[in-house]
Amino acid sequence: MKKLFKQIHLNFLNILFPPRCIICGKFITKAYGFCTDCEILTPKTEGTKEEHKFGDGKLQYVDFCASPFYYENGIRKALIRMKFQGKCAFAEAFADPMMQAFTNAFKNKAYPRAQSISWVPISVARSKERGYDQSKLLANHLGRVMDLPVLPTLKKVVNNPMQSSLKAKDRKGNVLGVYELDREFNAWTEMKAIILVDDIFTTGATINEAAKIIKAGGAENIYALFAAKTRASNKSEQF
Ligand SMILES: [Zn+2]
Repeated sequence: MKKLFKQIHLNFLNILFPPRCIICGKFITKAYGFCTDCEILTPKTEGTKEEHKFGDGKLQYVDFCASPFYYENGIRKALIRMKFQGKCAFAEAFADPMMQAFTNAFKNKAYPRAQSISWVPISVARSKERGYDQSKLLANHLGRVMDLPVLPTLKKVVNNPMQSSLKAKDRKGNVLGVYELDREFNAWTEMKAIILVDDIFTTGATINEAAKIIKAGGAENIYALFAAKTRASNKSEQF
């Protein structure tokens, strides 16, 4: 019955605010996502030679990484709008593609099943200024489609310069010591295999540092999952 009410509520909302493609803004018939034209043009990683290539083997604290899209064209525009222009509702469109990318990367691997989902947080100051944490939103939507609990693991204790403002060689040093375990919440410490969500993969310095802290806190497996990744051949492209 609860589900039925939720569906009626959603249908009502859809009449008032018809869903639009997050890339071109055209009206769409599904609840969220891309129109048919943009869906075809989205830069998907699946089946490409960089689908499973992340960080040239330097991410020693992450067991494996996955991302459904390349950070290019319409996806890049949508993520910039999600992150910097208040379009937090766009996060929902990434949940199904992220789950699919995770499933593709996980199959045929001998790792334990993920027990929960967490995210790489932005600082409290930045979260206040922006009004939301985009990676937390991605994690929440992912938790719903994957039917897994979403739990905070980290807090960002240093408001460092944004990685996107730095050259690749300076990024590793910029994230050292910026995360601490979130000790207000310890439910996650029961979880040994965690999917760690971040919005964009570039050099991997951030995700590796975040995974290092969580593993030091007791987690055994960290699977990194991103909305989009920068191609290795295109590291200079920033947002
Ligand atoms: Zn479109």
